[in-house]
Amino acid sequence: MTNHIFKTGESRDQVSLLPARIDDYVGSDNPVRAIESFVCALDLARLGFRHADRGAEEAGQPPYDPADLLKLYLYGYINQVRSSRRLEREACRNLELIWLLKNLRPGYRTIANFRKENWSALKAANRSFVLLARELELVGGSTVAIDGSFFHGDASKASIFTRKRLKEQIAKLDQDIEAYRKSLEDNDAAEAKRPRKNRGNATGGGRGGDIGAKVAELMAKRSRAQADLARLEESGETQLSKTDPDARLLVKSNQGIAGYNVQTVVDDKHKLIVASEVVNDSSDVGQLHAMAKAAKDAVEAEVLQALADEGYYSSLELKACEDDGIIAYVPVPEGNRVVEKRGRFGRRDFNYDARADAYRCPAGEPLRPINGRWQNASGRIEIRYASRKAICQTCRLRSRCLGENASQRIVYRWEHEDVLERDRARMQGADELMRRRSAIVEHPFGTIKCRAGYRHFLVRGFNKVRGEWSLMALCYNFSRVLNILGLKRFMERIANALSSPPRAPTALPRLVHAALSRFWSSFPSPFALCRHTLSCTS
Ligand code: SF4
Repeated sequence: MTNHIFKTGESRDQVSLLPARIDDYVGSDNPVRAIESFVCALDLARLGFRHADRGAEEAGQPPYDPADLLKLYLYGYINQVRSSRRLEREACRNLELIWLLKNLRPGYRTIANFRKENWSALKAANRSFVLLARELELVGGSTVAIDGSFFHGDASKASIFTRKRLKEQIAKLDQDIEAYRKSLEDNDAAEAKRPRKNRGNATGGGRGGDIGAKVAELMAKRSRAQADLARLEESGETQLSKTDPDARLLVKSNQGIAGYNVQTVVDDKHKLIVASEVVNDSSDVGQLHAMAKAAKDAVEAEVLQALADEGYYSSLELKACEDDGIIAYVPVPEGNRVVEKRGRFGRRDFNYDARADAYRCPAGEPLRPINGRWQNASGRIEIRYASRKAICQTCRLRSRCLGENASQRIVYRWEHEDVLERDRARMQGADELMRRRSAIVEHPFGTIKCRAGYRHFLVRGFNKVRGEWSLMALCYNFSRVLNILGLKRFMERIANALSSPPRAPTALPRLVHAALSRFWSSFPSPFALCRHTLSCTS
């Protein structure tokens, strides 16, 4: 073997292996300094942060500053370290964290409690960062895309019960109990037939007792299932989750998980998340208006263009969007088109003539409104338009239009049908826009789920899950802003934002102004930081 000369490390016995100052552990261009400055700039008390309950781990000691724990979490979530125990370990061995926390070493309980107890403050911090991004002109504020994605909860599918599943479980337990009872009776009968002196000595003589215990166990299980069923029926919910009370079985495209549906609204300029919410319903129907309105408020737009997929199609939601100055682009679902598949005319073969207030059928005949309004199952008020029986009787298209026993065709028109017609008209030339929608909204989910690997929540219950999601979204936005601008430009843009008057002084919360001022003044020089971006950014 040839004699290679390799690089060798320094001796561990050397006195000064590490720099003497903690500040020398990280370079002046290390992005971790951005976390330090950002957190120091926030008015944490106003955002609602409070120190974490430390339990008994350090009784008698002063609490940790929420700022230090927030820095720890931001660093952790940006660098794919989420669990409180791993954060505790990293705080002891990771030089960047030792620098960031000034060698503080909080225990895992303190770390975990901080995340649990400050869920609403974490949401507020996330919102503040969106306002900051808006001030930095990184938010376009004219077009957003909305989408939802499933995240696993801290619960298994087996821990969530539906009525059907509980009823099936009870039925199965009844069967098992019955089978054991029968076996017990057979056992007793066999025992009775044996000569008295042999009773209890024969093989299996003790089985009666085993079976009795088994039956008791099954009975106990049955009563628990029965109590769960009663609880479920009383609550009016469709599912009962035993581990995480708010996690639900969510199903989409034949794939199911136990968890939450995270709704996000992403601005198209730099794909920043401007609004988000965690819900536990599989369906996105009913989320369009709430999400678009939250985004519109966050970016303070007069008019907002919102793009969503057909899963969001809802007449009432589209109407609410229009009322709030939101121009929604939502494709009309294809539906199963049962009638059309049978070769018959569907609803869309009838065209509305607004001037005549009548529908035109495929034969060109008018369908006119008939008296009275109709409330459908979903509560919409509809007007009925009917063809003339006499004309339909002799129509050559009758077999393709009417059912066997029908004498005329009725078409229902929602009182606000023009809202849907405007959406249909917008969608006519919106192919390119809808392609953009996927690119905009998939970016955060792709980054968070695939690159960072965050597909599940570590905490349970809506509040805590919403807090954890806020951390994920904040870290995504934070990393993205640094990635887009680089630290140098990031600092320059903040300086510009401060030196020029705000665009909407009355609307911009004082909190953000205060944060911006302190953020900027905390840097001795805008060029003191590095141009690097954080490692997990996209
Ligand atoms: S059956 Fe009546 S409604 Fe249908 S196409 Fe003929 S005329 Fe029109």
